[in-house]
Amino acid sequence: MTTPVYLDWNASAPLGEPARAAMAHAFTVAGNPSSVHAAGRAARKIVEEARASVASVAGAGAARIVFTGGGTEANALALNGFAPADCIVSAVEHDSVWAPLSGARVAPVDRDGIVDLAALEALLADRPKLVAVMLANNETGAIQPVAEIARLTRAAGARLHCDAVQAFGKIAVDFEALGADTLALSAHKIGGPQGVGALIVRESVQVNPLLSGGGQETGLRAGTQNVAGIAGFGAAALAAAPMAAGLRDALENAIRTAYVGVAIHAGAAPRLPNTSCIGLPGVSAETQVMTLDLAGFAVSAGAACSSGKVKASRTLAAMGAGTGAGEAIRVSLGPTTTTEEIDAFARAWAALARRLAPAGAKIPAAA
Ligand code: PLP
Repeated sequence: MTTPVYLDWNASAPLGEPARAAMAHAFTVAGNPSSVHAAGRAARKIVEEARASVASVAGAGAARIVFTGGGTEANALALNGFAPADCIVSAVEHDSVWAPLSGARVAPVDRDGIVDLAALEALLADRPKLVAVMLANNETGAIQPVAEIARLTRAAGARLHCDAVQAFGKIAVDFEALGADTLALSAHKIGGPQGVGALIVRESVQVNPLLSGGGQETGLRAGTQNVAGIAGFGAAALAAAPMAAGLRDALENAIRTAYVGVAIHAGAAPRLPNTSCIGLPGVSAETQVMTLDLAGFAVSAGAACSSGKVKASRTLAAMGAGTGAGEAIRVSLGPTTTTEEIDAFARAWAALARRLAPAGAKIPAAA
């Protein structure tokens, strides 16, 4: 095993070989995809093939795929033009949905981070225009019942936006079956490049462009497309395969054995197979992340802001974690994560718990 061990795939996955190869090819094409000459048509072909790839993997059928500069922009595009007062947002949304909807009514979640459907129905009685609920949570991996939420939302005459950035490529995502009106994706969570994403838009739905100008992306996102990045996204989407939960479960079993006081947040919810949100009572998330970093393991705290400082997790607080909201780390695995890496991480985590947990951890002899 080589250190450092990268267990922060939900933050960004390493660029995969299919994406790297597709991008290397795209960099050899000179044209602007809007140009009518042969070079332009070659660039356009790359973009359209990637669009078809993303559409087929996301079950998007006849819906439009609008390429954007990442998941944040895809969320912003879906929400553009909606007044927060007309919207409902789940309590556990990513900041790129939460911030633009600041002031919206909040749909609460249960202890496992799943939206309370009865509470949502009560909020829907006020006839909002838009509801935003993610498919899988970035911190805990909890998967929302989006198809059911879409049914309730449609019955109330509102639009459903779903942020599927963390789910796409890790579990099967089928736009038609989910029933959302708009769905946000991002390339760099699945082995594609950073700074590329997409918004899937149902045929009957109108979105308000953030950028206007050259009319690219059927007028919904002006600006010359990032041809190589889009090529990488298409290749990564085709290469992504739903993951198994075996290694994640082995990791959690080892950790539970090492310390009985550990909390696996959203442990009882349907979850992404690669994500574990591990709480160590009495030890700040920042201390845990730094200690593990020194030991050669890259993990993250629930919510790190761009300054690198760690704040208590809004998601875990909404789940009723109390002080535990500032004491959890996120361990996220990828398709190339090995048993050896997970075993080594579990040993490092047990050592951390033994050293730092206030009440003293129960460490098995083998650890
Ligand atoms: N939505 C979720 C759930 C995410 O986890 C992230 C990134 O962490 C985003 C949106 C933003 O995506 P991007 O980094 O492509 O802007």
